[in-house]
Amino acid sequence: MEDKDRKDEYEKICLMCRRPESRAGKMLDMGNDVCICQECLQKAVDSMKFSGVSFNDFMNYMPDFSKTGGGTQENGGSPKSGVSAPEVVGDAQTPDNPDDPKKKDGKEDQGKRVGGIPTIGMINLSDLLGGMGMGVPRQQIKKKKDKEKKPRKELDINNIPAPHRIKASLDEYVVGQEHAKKVISVAVYNHYKRIASGTDDIEIEKSNMLMLGPTGCGKTYLVKTMARLLDVPLAMADATSLTEAGYIGDDIESVISRLLTAADNDVERAEQGIVFIDEIDKIAKKRNANQRDVSGEAVQQGMLKLLEGSEVEVPVGAASKNAMVPMVTVNTQNILFICGGAFPGLEDIIKERLNKQASVGFLADLKDKYDDDPNLLSKVTVEDLRTFGMIPEFIGRLPIIFSLEALTKEMLVRILKEPRNAIIRQYQKLLALDEVQLDIDEGALEAIAEKALEKKTGARALRSILEEFMLDIMYEIPKDDNIGRVTITREYIEHTGGPIITLRDSGYRLAQADAPAGNA
Ligand code: ADP
Repeated sequence: MEDKDRKDEYEKICLMCRRPESRAGKMLDMGNDVCICQECLQKAVDSMKFSGVSFNDFMNYMPDFSKTGGGTQENGGSPKSGVSAPEVVGDAQTPDNPDDPKKKDGKEDQGKRVGGIPTIGMINLSDLLGGMGMGVPRQQIKKKKDKEKKPRKELDINNIPAPHRIKASLDEYVVGQEHAKKVISVAVYNHYKRIASGTDDIEIEKSNMLMLGPTGCGKTYLVKTMARLLDVPLAMADATSLTEAGYIGDDIESVISRLLTAADNDVERAEQGIVFIDEIDKIAKKRNANQRDVSGEAVQQGMLKLLEGSEVEVPVGAASKNAMVPMVTVNTQNILFICGGAFPGLEDIIKERLNKQASVGFLADLKDKYDDDPNLLSKVTVEDLRTFGMIPEFIGRLPIIFSLEALTKEMLVRILKEPRNAIIRQYQKLLALDEVQLDIDEGALEAIAEKALEKKTGARALRSILEEFMLDIMYEIPKDDNIGRVTITREYIEHTGGPIITLRDSGYRLAQADAPAGNA
């Protein structure tokens, strides 16, 4: 599939005249990526000589296979031994006979005579070229001209939707996370307002963000949805793959290169894009490290100038710089940087600080007060992040720090069914194409959410769990055209029963189907 796509990107060019298919007309594919245009093929055929007889004349002496049904017996030789054909047939039809009626209308005649013979199959052009010492050129294909660019819906920075409207759009996709959606809507709104206002008297500070939250709670999803809604280019990078320039790994500046690619190499668009750097906690300063920390603290240092705004030279259309790739300068002044991470262990740091505060004086509190608080991350301070290993200059350049909540069972149930592209809706649509209605009991949704909670990977687990149960349904349903409805029950999810199958025309519910083998 990928290979096909790649091939579709290229245009065939003629081996002989080097013209692309768009100019030379339909190409004949000779195998081994060798193509030739019809005109050149005709010229090649015209110039061929068989024992001094041109190919056209040679073909004229060939017996009419369509009439004789083979002709080998009649001519006393096989068509392949055609070199001797002139002597065999040689009456009035000598090659040079100008009165030959067939010669007068050569083309038509040739078409008639050659009729049943596959003319192209007779010549293996790639063998021929090999024999002539020309070899087969490696690249017989030329990059197609870029398709005409679709006019894009440009982000009108003077007309950015108000924060409440941005949040309302986010609500359609992202469940819960009310505080995070509010913060990000306001920050993005201010960011683009800042760009629109220009930098005259009072310079508004850039609103780069740091997002904290357990894995699978929707950090990446929130940023992706935001970028899609605003139609701005988005580049995502993993902080773990970044290293200080010169070491194995991606240069820090490669994230800007990715943004440029996301903006179709349009520098102006890229300069107003969003860069999301995930797993930012993995570049925390390593404690007690005596070696050079090329993927931790050094990366934080290296990112400082990007976050603040600087001119960066990046290669166009490639991930790394080299002499062959053209470079452009991108200004990161107006690029919005959002960093995200789960920050494992940060909760303990916060807890320790809170406990220390709580055990002093009149406000003294119970020591284990914060032990069961699921959203300790929301109480984070810059001091905690410093203790965790983020350098102060780095945190200073991410002025908006907020956290996402850990997903609860209720939120997971809502994620299953509420968002516009909810997983359940996707399956319902898939089955609706087979004219089967899919229902999922509230109990079944809760059972799926409970299983997902056990996995501790947030909403990410939902799809894999549902997938496991849908497999049997998707396999069995198309077998029977009479099935009109399938209802997934809690029993099916808990392996104590099966889904309820309702037949199309009977309208009544069948007895509960047995749980498919394997799941029972
Ligand atoms: P992380 O926080 O680790 O970056 P992701 O944003 O990649 O997690 O979430 C994984 C998937 O879970 C998303 O693709 C999305 O489908 C789903 N998801 C997570 N949180 C939510 C949410 N609050 N609302 C809707 N879907 C969510």
